[in-house]
Amino acid sequence: MKKFPLNSEVDFVVIGSGAGGGIMAKQLATAGFSVVVLEQGGWGKYGREHEYNKDEWIQLHLPEDQQLMSDPNRQRNTFRRNDREKAKPGNHTYGCVVGGGTVTYGGSSWRHLPYEFKEATTDPTIPSGTGMADWPITYEELEPYYVQAEWEMGISGRKIDSPFLAPMSKDYPVPPVPLKSSGALMMTAAQKLGLTCVPGPLAIITRPYMGRAACVNCGICSGYGCQVRARSSSAVTMLPLAVNTGRCEIRARSYVREITTDGAGRCTGVIYFDAEKKEVRQRAKVVVLSANASESARLLLLSKSGRFPDGLANSSGLVGKYVMYGNGVTATGLFEHPLNEYKGVVSGAAIVDFVPSDPKRGHYGGGRMTARGYQTPFELGLNGLSPGTPHWGAAYKKALKEEANHRMTIQCYVTQMPLETNRVDLDPDVKDEWGLPAMRITSTSHPDDIKNMEFFRQKSIEVLQAAGATRVWAPPVGDTRGGAHNRGTCRMGNDPKTSVVDKYQKAHDVPNLFIVDGSVFVTGGRNHPTMTIQALAFRAADHLVQAAKKGAIKTSF
Ligand SMILES: Cc1cc2nc3c(=O)[nH]c(=O)nc-3n(C[C@H](O)[C@H](O)[C@H](O)COP(=O)(O)OP(=O)(O)OC[C@H]3O[C@@H](n4cnc5c(N)ncnc54)[C@H](O)[C@@H]3O)c2cc1C
Repeated sequence: MKKFPLNSEVDFVVIGSGAGGGIMAKQLATAGFSVVVLEQGGWGKYGREHEYNKDEWIQLHLPEDQQLMSDPNRQRNTFRRNDREKAKPGNHTYGCVVGGGTVTYGGSSWRHLPYEFKEATTDPTIPSGTGMADWPITYEELEPYYVQAEWEMGISGRKIDSPFLAPMSKDYPVPPVPLKSSGALMMTAAQKLGLTCVPGPLAIITRPYMGRAACVNCGICSGYGCQVRARSSSAVTMLPLAVNTGRCEIRARSYVREITTDGAGRCTGVIYFDAEKKEVRQRAKVVVLSANASESARLLLLSKSGRFPDGLANSSGLVGKYVMYGNGVTATGLFEHPLNEYKGVVSGAAIVDFVPSDPKRGHYGGGRMTARGYQTPFELGLNGLSPGTPHWGAAYKKALKEEANHRMTIQCYVTQMPLETNRVDLDPDVKDEWGLPAMRITSTSHPDDIKNMEFFRQKSIEVLQAAGATRVWAPPVGDTRGGAHNRGTCRMGNDPKTSVVDKYQKAHDVPNLFIVDGSVFVTGGRNHPTMTIQALAFRAADHLVQAAKKGAIKTSF
């Protein structure tokens, strides 16, 4: 891998190597620019290159440099429901490794539907007083970049014409994953209830593709790295291509603490802590911030200066606001026959009829119901049995025997409205392991979001019963307190007073700062953000490369 001298200035520094950062690094380096990627996490390597550990016990006890997720004891964060409460230690975590959240993600790669870009002005069910707004771009503008993302990353699935699915100009590059028992049961229930059940698009390849092996159905999937490289993470798709250009260096365990600016209000680079917690300065002509919606907002707020007293790119006062962590609902059913759900990918099939909002339901909201086994055997045994089951003894063993191979879960991914009061900011009291103000999350979902979750809870119970479950349980609904599906903290828009970045993801206030991750979402979609983050990244990179080549953005090109 190319190594740039620490005192040299590069064209681009990319902060974060996940869904957005990986694509930016690859697109910029292949276009001829020099790129340094600074990633807070390690390489996550257990054996050979990208051979991640998949032992469930070892995964819980990995040394710091092999961990795949952030650790709330180090990347400390606090949580409160509203401004009146004192925030308490929180347990928000996110993918924290070279490749970011894409290394461990379930891989569900749904596109946003065309109306999801303009719900604020077209959906009569949206209550007043929320932060719902239209995106400054349309589905049609983004569609070619969805195709590019699907083909360059490697997404499996099937193009299906349905009012509940986004229209596609091109099919997926590889076919969908095989139907699991949970998918077959969901399909049976859907047929009985007159619903639409489809195979879900997944960033998991089902045939050898671009030099990578197909999924071997090992079953240790979401939450773990993929040993055979079938999961199309940034770590095995985009980042190797970026490095192969000879123009991109990835520096792992490099935690950026500030984006630096000059007197003219332009970025000059970043200051980061290396693995030994030593401060290093990296100069760059352009900064691309791709640290995920929570950390990107926090870093902007940490990058205060005389010229930017409220944080960088924050003249609107909106950095950190409108955060959406994503609500979910689950229901589980027991079945007479063994389901073998511990094999294969986490989630294959989905019921999609309730994706659109419907005035008949009496509230705003929609979502997808996905079929899954949900837990690995180990997770199930430790923590996953039905409510009320003792954790030891004969009753525990009996429940383990009955439930282990006979259950499926419906996990619903649903809407959550952006609210100005929901936000990420800096905790005034708590510091992270590096001595920087910790992230403070303030979040309470809108009453319609709660009603929507209850709607999906009831539907999930109905579907499990129609599938023939002998017993069904569904925990009461509760809204989110953080998580890796974070979006919305630096929303895009045309007006600098009501948004942080423009429609090409350039900060309104800083001409050489681009934000390319989940931060820029205006609304949350149905809580499967990554495919849209990736399509937006390809689009932003296209624009940035053209602008830089024309000299509109100063680089050494
Ligand atoms: C277990 C799991 C399952 C998931 N399943 C799905 C799914 O099925 N479908 C879906 O759509 N989404 C899923 N997600 C969410 C998905 O991973 C995220 O939406 C996506 O990765 C976000 O992309 P991003 O570019 O915003 O940031 P990320 O991919 O999170 O990348 C940000 C990177 O920046 C690094 N970073 C942060 N701060 C700093 C700093 N100060 N300095 C240097 N580096 C920094 C982080 O360590 C991280 O590697 C899942 C996530 C997890 C953890």
